[in-house]
Amino acid sequence: MKKVFVTLATLSLIVTLQSCQDKNMVEVVVDEPVKEEAVVGNPENVKAEGKFQMVALPYAYNALEPHIDAKTMEIHYSKHHLGYTNNLNKEIEGKDLADKTIEEILTSLDLENKALRNNAGGYYNHNLFWEILSAEKSAPSGALLDKINADLGSVDNLITQLKEAGAKQFGSGWAWLVVNKDGKLQVGSTPNQDNPLMPNMAISGTPILGIDVWEHAYYLHYQNKRADYLDAIFNVINWNKVAEKFEATQAK
Ligand code: MN
Repeated sequence: MKKVFVTLATLSLIVTLQSCQDKNMVEVVVDEPVKEEAVVGNPENVKAEGKFQMVALPYAYNALEPHIDAKTMEIHYSKHHLGYTNNLNKEIEGKDLADKTIEEILTSLDLENKALRNNAGGYYNHNLFWEILSAEKSAPSGALLDKINADLGSVDNLITQLKEAGAKQFGSGWAWLVVNKDGKLQVGSTPNQDNPLMPNMAISGTPILGIDVWEHAYYLHYQNKRADYLDAIFNVINWNKVAEKFEATQAK
């Protein structure tokens, strides 16, 4: 008996030649191809360089499955969000801006400063986004629920408005629920990484919920079906956190 080992790329073949009576039979054993497992890393290993640091993800990358898949979460947090954070840090380094909070940077933003606009927005928006998601099912309650009913009619209306705002936002952007300057809840959207804290936005106020509608937020799992992603994400909204953010605006 003779064994020949051949390595061909990642596939290993074990060819066993066997003698059988008056003729040779060749038995080829092919290993199962190694399955490409969805290896996801640990969000705690994602570190930014500079003043603004990554806010810890309050759950694992796979925590929101099946609504948001682990690979999307990992790329979103460890590549896109980290990129905005590092680029924001480069923009403020050595400038007066470095002494400001992210909210101060956003509210006093010069919209012509595109690099700062995109990266400060990207940093803030994603911090909010991760915070208001959770695998634990929840629903609006207490003062937030009363306010939703008073200003927007019902929770169903709010969700319909948010889905519409996200679906209608052309290209990349965000759908928002804000407390506006009159103290009312209001739904709207902004393009790119703009947000309602920036000057002269179509929707203005303190964001208490933001939904990322960039393709990078859903394309791996939902491809072009943004509406399906928008339906799914309402399974993982952390309404307790949204309520907390609403109550913080009332305390001011
Ligand atoms: Mn994003």
